[in-house]
Amino acid sequence: MNNKLYGNLIFELSKQGRKGYSLPRNSFGDYEVPQELCRKEEAALPECDELTVVRHYTNLSNNNFGVDTGFYPLGSCTMKYNPKINEEMAALPQFQNLHPMQPEPTVTGARALVVLLEKSLCALTGLAHFTFKPYAGAHGELTGLMTIDNYHRSRGDMARKKVIVPDSAHGTNPASAAVCGLEIIEVKSKADGTVDVEDLQRIVAEQGSEIAAMMMTNPNTLGLFETSIPAIANLIHNCGGLMYYDGANLNPMLGACRPGDMGFDVMHINLHKTFSTPHGGGGPGSGPVGVREGLQEFFPFVSPYQGNYAVMMRAYAYILSLGREQLRLVGPLATLNANYIKESLKDVYELPIDGLCCHEFVFDGLKDKSTGVTTMDVAKRLLDYGYHAPTIYFPLLFHESLMIEPTENESKETLDGFIAVMRQIAEEAKTNPDFVKTAPHDTPIGRVDDVLAAKHPVVTYRQMKKDTLSKVG
Ligand SMILES: *Cc1c(COP(=O)(O)O)cnc(C)c1O
Repeated sequence: MNNKLYGNLIFELSKQGRKGYSLPRNSFGDYEVPQELCRKEEAALPECDELTVVRHYTNLSNNNFGVDTGFYPLGSCTMKYNPKINEEMAALPQFQNLHPMQPEPTVTGARALVVLLEKSLCALTGLAHFTFKPYAGAHGELTGLMTIDNYHRSRGDMARKKVIVPDSAHGTNPASAAVCGLEIIEVKSKADGTVDVEDLQRIVAEQGSEIAAMMMTNPNTLGLFETSIPAIANLIHNCGGLMYYDGANLNPMLGACRPGDMGFDVMHINLHKTFSTPHGGGGPGSGPVGVREGLQEFFPFVSPYQGNYAVMMRAYAYILSLGREQLRLVGPLATLNANYIKESLKDVYELPIDGLCCHEFVFDGLKDKSTGVTTMDVAKRLLDYGYHAPTIYFPLLFHESLMIEPTENESKETLDGFIAVMRQIAEEAKTNPDFVKTAPHDTPIGRVDDVLAAKHPVVTYRQMKKDTLSKVG
């Protein structure tokens, strides 16, 4: 494409004195801007004509990759299609133009939506109450853990300051526990990828009176369904702790089972993942926290007003437009699609834990390790073929993790296209490994130096002399 022609930064396109507007002569007289408010020097703003600006930003936007442009198998992120009707609903002016300080009688419709969404989530999860205050999954984890902490302290039980987290957990779990001032105890996974109940028994026997909660993800970060939850919940409840469910990845559970029925007491849901809001890159999120009856009085104050309201509107539109029968298909179809890809590729990619997965699964790089082609190289080469890369080097349980989550909306043709390309890359790794190792070849920017990009990011331009712009590190 023409990025080179049009420049990467609007500042590079600037020509001194060029204007993008013309205004008629002012016939109203003018108003002197007080001297102390004026700049000493003119601001170094880019000077461009309108068409150059339009082309610049349109071309930049064409470099964007999104669910609407191509397949996005980013494991643990549920980058699923977001139906357009949700956007229309969230943009309804009656809701969009609400002000949080409006008198209550003028916002009854908006409040009704909160109640109806809460009811739906209770029905889907088996819990009794939800708060919509948290702005993201990790914020939900913190809110949930603070709820649990408040509960223990309300009973005068100050000793419960430890949280058990499986070694396969999402990184946000131990991070949220630490932010909440709790200590993390790691419980091991067995060779089959699920929580080691014997290791857990040992922990509970030794430190039971200090356990505030156990945090679990189910299906876990390997995409595996934890089958011992009832036994685990018993262990934790018997020692006085609560069960926390990281429901960021609720997608495969939709229509299949409910955390409340499994013995979980507190959970969060990532509305932006499972209930379809375009997210990623720090986009809008909502991490409502659900609790069993009685625990709602311990919700902490974590944000003002009603949370990220537009995300809630999208979630409710999504639930209504699918309806009970279609919602039941979400989890099973996501699971079917993931297993289809896994089975179609496991002869060329290393599958460390075989068996049925849920909505996602993890390969440990290419099966043939002799080529020297890494997971990073495979991910980069996928970009040349027009696919978003899967999640790589996470989870940390394997050296060459490559984590794929297709989601339920992808057609068989899309999945077959992706499978064919993954097989093609495995073939290239044998016949022309250097080509794969230097990928991507067809993107506007080639392979970047990850270390340099992380340690010395160049994020500003500084004007050295007028019209002479240069990069500063
Ligand atoms: C995505 C995810 C999170 C974090 O959610 P954010 O909205 O990014 O804060 C937490 N746990 C799991 C299992 C996730 O997949």
